[in-house]
Amino acid sequence: MIVDTLSVAYGDALALDGVSLSVQSGEVTTLIGTNGAGKTTLIRAIAGLLPVRSGQVSFDGRDITGRPSHRICDLGIGQVAEGRQVFPTLSVRENLLMGAVIPRARALADETYAAMLDLFPRLQERLHQAAGTLSGGEQQMLAIARCLMGQPRLIMFDEPSLGLSPAMVGEVFRIIRRLKDQGMTIILVEQNVAASLALADQAYVLETGRITLSGTGQTLLRDPRVREAYLGL
Ligand code: ATP
Repeated sequence: MIVDTLSVAYGDALALDGVSLSVQSGEVTTLIGTNGAGKTTLIRAIAGLLPVRSGQVSFDGRDITGRPSHRICDLGIGQVAEGRQVFPTLSVRENLLMGAVIPRARALADETYAAMLDLFPRLQERLHQAAGTLSGGEQQMLAIARCLMGQPRLIMFDEPSLGLSPAMVGEVFRIIRRLKDQGMTIILVEQNVAASLALADQAYVLETGRITLSGTGQTLLRDPRVREAYLGL
């Protein structure tokens, strides 16, 4: 995926100001930045949930800028939104099946459902429980599994470890690493800077709507500006 000089505004306030980045297939691309830097805005704009003021997003050589979100989903771009957007009154099983309603996923729904129960044993134990009664970490697992039910080729994670216990944070990172090992293309937005840079092939620092630094995850982990501003070292 290529994001080319993308600008997005809320009214007169520019939230993204000419952001360019490239996401290589099969890699983890991590985005870090302070609160309000525009990370969620970038993910929502790529997903077709926010209008773009200027610039372009392309995927597989196709211009997808401004396409409606369901079309972007159909192309295989999945999203695990901030705050675990599960359907609270539906059961775990129903939530998972909802993930496979898009055309590209229907034929593989049974197979993927079985794979998800394997990957997320905690969900298997709770299939008939209402999703809203799951713990925060379990809801995050469900949100990830539901996204995978849609057969994405690229997944965007927005703060997947936010508000989770240390054990659950570890579990979320273990799953993201597993997806990376399976060859999934991943965009990861995280406050947990050390862990997300360690996982990153490529990483970008976003500050007040602009990319101010980029490099491999290892390069940014060693960068004195990142160490001071984001790792408190
Ligand atoms: P955080 O880490 O705190 O989630 P973020 O990097 O994801 O931050 P965004 O949520 O993308 O940041 O917000 C970028 C800027 O756009 C902020 O200044 C925010 O106040 C503003 N903004 C976000 N959503 C809206 C909206 N619906 N209307 C007006 N301004 C908005």
